[in-house]
Amino acid sequence: MSRRAFRGGIHPPDRKDATSGLAIERAPVPPSLTVPMSQHLGAPCAPLVARGDRVRRGQVIGDVEAMVSAPVHSPVDGEVAEVTDVLLASGTRVLAVRITPDEVQDLDRFEPLAAAGDERARVRASGVVGLGGAAFPSAVKLSPPKDMAVTTVILNGCECEPFLTCDHRAMVESPARVVAGGRAIAGIVGAGRVVVGVEANKPDAAEALRAYAGDGVEVLVLPTRYPQGAEKQLIQAVLGAEVPHGKLPAATGALVHNVSTAVAIADALEHGRPLMERVVTVTGRVERPGNYLALLGTPVSALIEHAGGVTAGAGRVIAGGPMTGMALADLDVPVVKGTSGVVVLSAEETAPAVIGDQPCIRCSRCSQACPMGLEPFALGIYANRSDWEATERYHALDCIECGCCSFVCPTRRPLVQLIRRAKQSLLERGAPL
Ligand code: SF4
Ligand code: SF4
Repeated sequence: MSRRAFRGGIHPPDRKDATSGLAIERAPVPPSLTVPMSQHLGAPCAPLVARGDRVRRGQVIGDVEAMVSAPVHSPVDGEVAEVTDVLLASGTRVLAVRITPDEVQDLDRFEPLAAAGDERARVRASGVVGLGGAAFPSAVKLSPPKDMAVTTVILNGCECEPFLTCDHRAMVESPARVVAGGRAIAGIVGAGRVVVGVEANKPDAAEALRAYAGDGVEVLVLPTRYPQGAEKQLIQAVLGAEVPHGKLPAATGALVHNVSTAVAIADALEHGRPLMERVVTVTGRVERPGNYLALLGTPVSALIEHAGGVTAGAGRVIAGGPMTGMALADLDVPVVKGTSGVVVLSAEETAPAVIGDQPCIRCSRCSQACPMGLEPFALGIYANRSDWEATERYHALDCIECGCCSFVCPTRRPLVQLIRRAKQSLLERGAPL
């Protein structure tokens, strides 16, 4: 197979040992769930229920007609306590439905999706979004432009972020479902080939998947290197093809979905199952790290409590992984569709993410590490001066916010934060994505 390593990248300590061997365990139903109307990229949903309404597990409680969107379902049987605005891990405030669950819950039961419509319509109705963290609505991704033929579906089983192991456990515990999801996606987009890309640090996952490979499905072991799981880097590693500047990945004939997303798509199509819960790796400085199946809307504080609480030296709590996740200002934020992890770090461990203010010494390590071939030091300098035109010239919008540059910088320049600010500014000024 033609294959080419992506440029740049880093080898951060993967810190996955505490949870990679632990089977997925269901977290308890919390006393109250807060289900945000925006758990996806795109237009937020409008609530379809009001205070005092009874809701059933799997019932649609929010939806919107916008093209890039995904409906939201109740994760439990219960009663709507209020519809209010809440804070998310991203720091944004959105409308949410707060539900008081019934004391007795049968989590094996749910309101199945209506069987009407084609497969894309059923995936949309299920509310499935990219579970790797991007939260892009899966049904939209299943509809590439008509002039771009998808020949290969790549399932992303790299999980290259340190600490996170939820995808790893999905591959080990449900390999048949991962492959079923890959075949379903290939069927929808008309691709003849499915490749599951797995980093070499997960040999048990690759072995489990191989038992279901064949007949158009391959398992490809890739070098352990961050950010191997970023979409463009994965396509490059699997197909040896670079996504042309300004084009969609489908321009290479590839369509990438995360392995846990593939399971959710298979469950939606075969069992009419809406997305009501997800696996969250809770790890770092907690008493009982684990891979917990949490109902969407569960407060992060309840998950940490279920994991035995924090241990000595706990400093920051990160939603997601330490490279691309968000430091939480409030632990009552809810688990949402894109919450892959809750990582509790000490103050020293989070130091690279803390804004420092040391000058650049022009060592060029950030440029060597950048998988997108950018010049992060220059972007950082121009963003600091609010010279947005210069950041555009230096291709700030191509930054995938992987954090490699900040990780290697000896003077701990807050490069990703600066580049994020530049991107935000450029987008607000109408720059095309
Ligand atoms: S965060 Fe952006 S600039 Fe920094 S290494 Fe990643 S892609 Fe390059
Ligand atoms: S790694 Fe840091 S110090 Fe070195 S060139 Fe980049 S920004 Fe400057």
